[in-house]
Amino acid sequence: MAILQARRELLIGGEWVRTTGRLEVHDPATGEVLADIADATAQEALQAVGAAHDAFGSWSQTSARQRAEILRRSFEIMTAEIEDCARLICLENGKAWGDALGEATYAAEFFRWFSEEACRIAGDFRYAPNGDKTIIVDHRPMGVAYMITPWNFPAAMATRKLAPALAAGCTAVLKPAAETPLTALWVADVVQRAGAPAGVVNVVTTSQAGPVSEAVLADPRTATLSFTGSTYVGKLLLGQTARRVLPSSMELGGNAPLIVLEGTDVGRAVEGAMVAKMRNGGSACTAANRMYVHESVAENFSEQLQTALASLRIGPGIDRTNDLGAMVSLKERDKVLDLVAAAEGEGAQAVAVSQAPVSGAFLAPRVVRGVEHGSVLTRSEIFGPVAPIVTFSDTDEAVRMANDTEYGLISYVFARDNGQGIEVARRLESGMVAVNRGVASDPAAPFGGMKESGLGREGGFAGIHEFLETQYFAVDL
Ligand code: NAD
Repeated sequence: MAILQARRELLIGGEWVRTTGRLEVHDPATGEVLADIADATAQEALQAVGAAHDAFGSWSQTSARQRAEILRRSFEIMTAEIEDCARLICLENGKAWGDALGEATYAAEFFRWFSEEACRIAGDFRYAPNGDKTIIVDHRPMGVAYMITPWNFPAAMATRKLAPALAAGCTAVLKPAAETPLTALWVADVVQRAGAPAGVVNVVTTSQAGPVSEAVLADPRTATLSFTGSTYVGKLLLGQTARRVLPSSMELGGNAPLIVLEGTDVGRAVEGAMVAKMRNGGSACTAANRMYVHESVAENFSEQLQTALASLRIGPGIDRTNDLGAMVSLKERDKVLDLVAAAEGEGAQAVAVSQAPVSGAFLAPRVVRGVEHGSVLTRSEIFGPVAPIVTFSDTDEAVRMANDTEYGLISYVFARDNGQGIEVARRLESGMVAVNRGVASDPAAPFGGMKESGLGREGGFAGIHEFLETQYFAVDL
């Protein structure tokens, strides 16, 4: 497939640079090698930092309109070639075609949204209350932004960082996950073709995420870190950024509760739960991880959910008739199976609702009943197509269980009506709450978590400020 031959090297200062070290990218549906790409050392990554640093001076001085137009062109190119992007996502990540196309479209929208935001970076002008001076507040680009992205949304996590950084006037060094680097290379190529000057976007693919990132973060030319990944790695990186008091935006793990209240239309709740649970085959930080269902509807909900899950066709994502693709690797699949086995060991009943293909990293969905709050499935980020159901009898108890976690990314509430839903949503400790719907993500909305799910917000009006430094001028006017 031509798309697999396209970009395989490091992008440094506008050049595709070949490395001696090589990294194989696999198709998790077949186990086949898709491509052999650059495997950067820390030294090579620092060359990318140098290129980004060199480009920053002139890029930060371009007009907002110029930056906006490059981002707008990126959106247009990506939209025109959306199926190429979806194909790459399917092949290297394993997800189903519908999910891949959905992700590619969502990813392109970050270019459009931030092309609009680039021209709306507002300052502030005020007189001091005591009248002795004028307060002028300005926002200026931070400099070189280092970006680390996970494998589960290889396009959207890259554009959610690149678009606001470029809109703000920062330059970027992007380090995608080793499992899914091809999509990130493709996205970077789009931005190049849209007219980004050499060095504005650099990409470093590597199997040595730890040492490469440590070197980049220690380099005084790196101005900020934007990380999306697990809370475990996020904490490790915060230890490193603390050494240089480096601004750090953290989009970390989740353990989303999904609450179905008494009086809810069960059909609607199941429809929402299917999206909340199964988007990306369950490998999403926003995936509904624990379902708290009122005892009056629990049986009906579980049965309808089981039927809906059983109707999903499982197979390679690249075959457009499949609804559920492969997991990213056998290792990730086995992690999920181990969690299910641990839950069974605790007395829960897991039912595999269908059969998955035997070869490849496929996993049939499971509904798990008889789950107690506090048991393994309610404490762990499952990251796969497994739906644990816990019943409750009283709303206060549901809110208490939902909040009983160190995570706080997103929650879902299904209620009789939006009034009842919002009332419960306000009591939940999460950065986002979807009320009577299965998806919340939108480039125009602030995405991010409370507690150990992260620091800062991406998207919305807030996203661009992760790449801007506030500067205040005191002036006697
Ligand atoms: P991960 O933390 O293992 O890896 C994420 C990225 O960090 C990858 O690029 C990886 O190469 C890199 N990395 C790994 N070890 C590192 C180290 N020592 N130093 C520097 N970089 C390192 O996470 P993952 O398994 O790729 O992704 C799944 C996790 O990401 C889940 O916890 C999920 O909830 C989270 N996630 C969060 C969001 C969000 O917006 N909050 C979005 C998607 C995924």
